[in-house]
Amino acid sequence: MGNPFRCPVCNTLLEEDKDAGFKIPPQCPYLNASYPELCSLHDKLYFGKWRKMVAVPRDIKRAYAKLRQLLSKVEEVVQKENILQARQDIRKAYGALAAANPDEEPYDSVKHMDQALSYVHHAINDLLREKQARLHLPADYEMHYDVVLPFKEDL
Ligand SMILES: [Zn+2]
Repeated sequence: MGNPFRCPVCNTLLEEDKDAGFKIPPQCPYLNASYPELCSLHDKLYFGKWRKMVAVPRDIKRAYAKLRQLLSKVEEVVQKENILQARQDIRKAYGALAAANPDEEPYDSVKHMDQALSYVHHAINDLLREKQARLHLPADYEMHYDVVLPFKEDL
């Protein structure tokens, strides 16, 4: 069962994600995460090219589509678990996403999309808190992504 070309843990397509600089590790980094698929999708956006200076409108439009997908997946879980705080965060994420218009104003949309992604992150953490699981920190997975951190040379 399942698609052999997808990670059995986090359901990521087993191909390198160029947008996120994601390289396939020998073992799924989300193996011990609760909601591995949600965390994995979140991080592919979090570390995505669309948030960087080098982004072109096409990157932003593609990220917008992925963000919508992630939001609807998180919403599905939130509705099932029925956690008030998470439902509020989902509503806020939809509100932020509605302010984005990647086809007409891609660069202006980035801040709204950033905000939506942040609310999605809150919603994922609301779910994790309910399970008394470890909260999701993208920094824990940073090593699996080609991340160019701003100000890294100052560290
Ligand atoms: Zn995986």
